[in-house]
Amino acid sequence: MRKVVDACRAHGVPIRVGVNGGSLEKELLAKYGRVTPEALVESALGHIRLLEKYDFTDVCVSVKSSDVPLNMKAYRLLHETVDYPLHLGVTEAGTPSMGLIKSAVGIGGLLCDGIGDTIRVSLTADPTEEVYAAKRILQACGLRRTGVNLISCPTCGRTSYNMIPIVEELERRLADCDKQITVAVMGCVVNGPGEASAADVGIAGGRGEGLLFRHGTVLRKVPEEKLIDALMDEIGKL
Ligand code: SF4
Repeated sequence: MRKVVDACRAHGVPIRVGVNGGSLEKELLAKYGRVTPEALVESALGHIRLLEKYDFTDVCVSVKSSDVPLNMKAYRLLHETVDYPLHLGVTEAGTPSMGLIKSAVGIGGLLCDGIGDTIRVSLTADPTEEVYAAKRILQACGLRRTGVNLISCPTCGRTSYNMIPIVEELERRLADCDKQITVAVMGCVVNGPGEASAADVGIAGGRGEGLLFRHGTVLRKVPEEKLIDALMDEIGKL
């Protein structure tokens, strides 16, 4: 332990104390009867004190569990107990669909309360999916200022074009765009531009053609099949 600590100190490398609900010490499981927030935090404190014994405080701490409410309670308790930076994550979160929701709640909920310094999204998927998910969580929490904020209406009886594939295609095309802008895709020309007037640029679909607008002001009509390209051109100008 001392050799690891000395090497980390010499190279300016921080150490993460990574407690995981699935590998909690036997003594703590016996003491608390099951994995609890208190047990996770006590485990973390044990490792932290050991590092502090060697005068090492370049530490980041995580107390991960796959149970979202338990995870959040443990992090809140840890936040009240130590001043070290916290690394947030929901472990074994699962597939991209459910895992993203668990991570958004478990990580995003804490971030919105000002808890957490670094994050990791764990998904049973290509690792690049984890990075995109993390970016989206940071964006949703207002902590990542670059990247497109793509907004779209839920659609309703007024929607008269095939909007869902258009939003999905735009999400793909804008995934790596780092412009700090809001882009809207709206379901109808009647309410769309007005409802999305806060967006920097957007489209609203109609029958066979749609409107391209900026800050709620209509720029021009565009045939439906050219809507995506017209919007991408407009985004390019911003
Ligand atoms: S923008 Fe139009 S289609 Fe979308 S929810 Fe509002 S009224 Fe309905």
